[in-house]
Amino acid sequence: FCCTKSYRIMSDITKQTLSELVNNIKEKKLSSSEITQAFVDRSEKSKELNTYITEDFSNALDKAKKFDDNPKLDLKLPGIPMAVKDLFCTANVRTTAGSKILNNFVPTYESTVTQNIWNEGAILIGKLNCDEFAMGSSNETSFFGNVQNPIDKNLVPGGSSGGSSSAVAAQLTPITIGTDTGGSIRQPASFTGTVGLKPTYGSCSRYGIVAFASSLDQAGPMAQNVKDCALLQEVISSYDQKDSTSIDFQRNQYSKELTKDIKGKKIGIPKEYRVDGMPKEIDDLWQKGIEYAKDCGAEIIDISLPHTNYALPTYYIVAPAEASSNLARYDGVKYGFRADGENLIDMYEKTRSEGFGAEVQRRIMIGTYVLSSGYYDAYYLKAQKVRKLIKNDFDEAYKKVDAILTPSTPSSAFKIGEKTNDPVSMYLNDIFTVPVNLAGLPGISIPAGHDSKGYPLGLQIIGKAFDEQNILNIAYAMEEKINFKNKITDWWIKWVKKSQNI
Ligand code: GLN
Repeated sequence: FCCTKSYRIMSDITKQTLSELVNNIKEKKLSSSEITQAFVDRSEKSKELNTYITEDFSNALDKAKKFDDNPKLDLKLPGIPMAVKDLFCTANVRTTAGSKILNNFVPTYESTVTQNIWNEGAILIGKLNCDEFAMGSSNETSFFGNVQNPIDKNLVPGGSSGGSSSAVAAQLTPITIGTDTGGSIRQPASFTGTVGLKPTYGSCSRYGIVAFASSLDQAGPMAQNVKDCALLQEVISSYDQKDSTSIDFQRNQYSKELTKDIKGKKIGIPKEYRVDGMPKEIDDLWQKGIEYAKDCGAEIIDISLPHTNYALPTYYIVAPAEASSNLARYDGVKYGFRADGENLIDMYEKTRSEGFGAEVQRRIMIGTYVLSSGYYDAYYLKAQKVRKLIKNDFDEAYKKVDAILTPSTPSSAFKIGEKTNDPVSMYLNDIFTVPVNLAGLPGISIPAGHDSKGYPLGLQIIGKAFDEQNILNIAYAMEEKINFKNKITDWWIKWVKKSQNI
């Protein structure tokens, strides 16, 4: 009986938003140890979701106790436990990037983004599963196995930050961070009914993040609601001399400056996003989104982004090209996995063939091909030129509007295994998110409705560069109108009962 009661209390803790947890710590209603224990317990009971690659539970509980012995209550994340995507280097905690080749890699240093988080008092509880080197849309390319979507265990949680989206949706961590190269924060957020923000390129330091495509990669917050997302963005965004692409601009106190007053904001609806074969329910969701935005006092304006069609092919040249160059460092010599070989070349070949999975090898081959001397001009250089045209489209549009509203993804979460044999249909998932990365802009996905099966669907709000505050405000205002709740599936009920031992 007493256990049932204590588990009930714990599940109440994991249900709280970040702001509630922070308030409860500040008002001394909850200790960091109680909160950390609650998330650790829930994580322990949810192993079948396969969200964690590395658990750091006992260290987390020690750190929580230390925090409680000497609480620093003026910090932004005082004693808050948090799991992060396993793409961020964490000092002395294994960092795998979801790959066999980094299976045994323990960094000696910390990524700037995670350091910013710990500096505000948060506590690492573990490293979350992701697609190998963040290449994927379903978390099925991870060497550590696929992740289940807590909405329905047969569904993917999206990718590449699938462990992150699943962990937030299942309340195994109050908030988390992911990375987004072509959609990997926004698409998994959309598939799990959570909120995910991809910041402007240069807003969050890339130092200490395992590189995929350096001109596209950005870290960003994932949370249950817009306000928590804003607070985490405020913590992680900083100018960093250790990243030469970090930008020194005046950053807002995003959570403090958050407002629902978006009256008169001009929101653009790009006609090119109405793609062929788009399911009716996505179109309906978009229409509903337009109505919500109007209800909030925004003005809707039709716009055109004429090169949208070229974004996906451009991305799938630029991203693999940069990946093939970045991944050249994994050679079995410096760190990570090494296979035995007859000689040096043989060792390189065996290490890379055994250490990288199929999707990563596919990207390396595409990337090496488009960069090869005979094809560089025809593919890579051309793609860079088209990338500029895509950016110009947005610049033109932003002369007329303050933000752009689109669906986040062309479908709801698909079944595990459904697209694994068809890379092109997998790549099509990124159709609405990729242009934003190519143009270096901020974009946020908020849960906005359900498909006919009750699975969540997201809307994306795209902003001008450095205008995170504006899209957070629009998202905050719309979130209230939408009043989204994840539909409770049978499986979810069973799972929640099990996680509470009742
Ligand atoms: N799904 C895209 C890809 O596979 C995007 C991945 C990402 O944003 N990391 O490349």
